[in-house]
Amino acid sequence: MKPILPLFIMIDACGWEILRQNPFAEASAPTRKRLDSVFGYSSTCVPSILSGRWPVEHRNWCYFVYDPKNSPFRSLRPLRWLPAAVTSRRIFRRWLTKFVRVQLKFRGYFDLYNIPFRYIHLFDFTEKKSPLQPQGMNRGPNIFDFLTDHDIPYFVTDTTRSEEANRDALIADIESERIDFAFQYWAGLDGLLHRVGNQSPEIPAKLQVYQQWIDRVLEAARKHYSEIHLYVFSDHGMANCDLHIDLKSRIDALPVRMEHDYAVVYDSTMARFWFFNDQARQLVTHELQRVPEGRILPDEELERLHARFDDHYFGELIFLVREGVLIVPSHMGERPIRAMHGYHPNDPQSYASLLTNQPAIPDDVTAIPHIYRLMERTAALARERNAPAPRG
Ligand SMILES: [Zn+2]
Repeated sequence: MKPILPLFIMIDACGWEILRQNPFAEASAPTRKRLDSVFGYSSTCVPSILSGRWPVEHRNWCYFVYDPKNSPFRSLRPLRWLPAAVTSRRIFRRWLTKFVRVQLKFRGYFDLYNIPFRYIHLFDFTEKKSPLQPQGMNRGPNIFDFLTDHDIPYFVTDTTRSEEANRDALIADIESERIDFAFQYWAGLDGLLHRVGNQSPEIPAKLQVYQQWIDRVLEAARKHYSEIHLYVFSDHGMANCDLHIDLKSRIDALPVRMEHDYAVVYDSTMARFWFFNDQARQLVTHELQRVPEGRILPDEELERLHARFDDHYFGELIFLVREGVLIVPSHMGERPIRAMHGYHPNDPQSYASLLTNQPAIPDDVTAIPHIYRLMERTAALARERNAPAPRG
């Protein structure tokens, strides 16, 4: 029996609005709080939680950036001659994604999504390392560096395995009393929400399954640790997409050309532009100002969101649609999906949630990067208390 188990369980996209009407985990984690998310997708929310820092500090923000000099994708360019009927197929993209990930030795999450092969040599991918490993951030340390530096044995999810396999691996680590810290990351709810939306009866059903899994983990933990510090949380929420806009066609119709006059990445809720001449900057800006479903984010606002990059690495103009609007087609997908995240953090469905069995959540924990503080504090406490008593 060990004194303390810090147990951190992240349920991707389990936002505050999704939990508001749901008694999920009320018995095991009754203290709950709404947290601000981070502007961007999971590609930035998860690293922000794991490092306790903001996008501008850790530089894990959006996946694709215009960077032809450093593009690792040049070898894929000949694929542009394949018919779109093949190259836009999800199954082909998935196969190729696996192949490329191995070839390029990427360690993090990787997906080619819907980036056209015609332009793929212009882009670099920004998550080459895994933020779920030590030295996995683009800049600075994360919780796994802290745990390694302090010799704290830990469990972390293996994202190449299923949710169930990770659940069982965590239970095995608890039963062997090998660990003094656990970070479990379940991603299934995010995929389900994207597919069926936040009002589907499949959502409470999935939450009930997670509830049972948490109960099973706790049951094992109670036999091996006297105190369990349980934190269940999300990285962001999820909004239904009821309006689709074809931004790409509008920009393509302008008398300026991609690659020659400007470059763009169409994320599903954002369009990020780099300009090579003033005409392109003016025409694109003017056109975007006429799109009522979104707006260009001013620098001051990006600054407040900790996502203003002085070197414009992620784009010099960021256009963001309002909640519920989906840019489609985009470089993330050819076809619409039911729900999406990555809207403004102050939009209603963006907020994340934090649930715990501890009596209170400290006042300095108001946004998802602050979850890091809880992890570091609890890990340090477990290290101190779980150390074997010195022999006399
Ligand atoms: Zn997602």
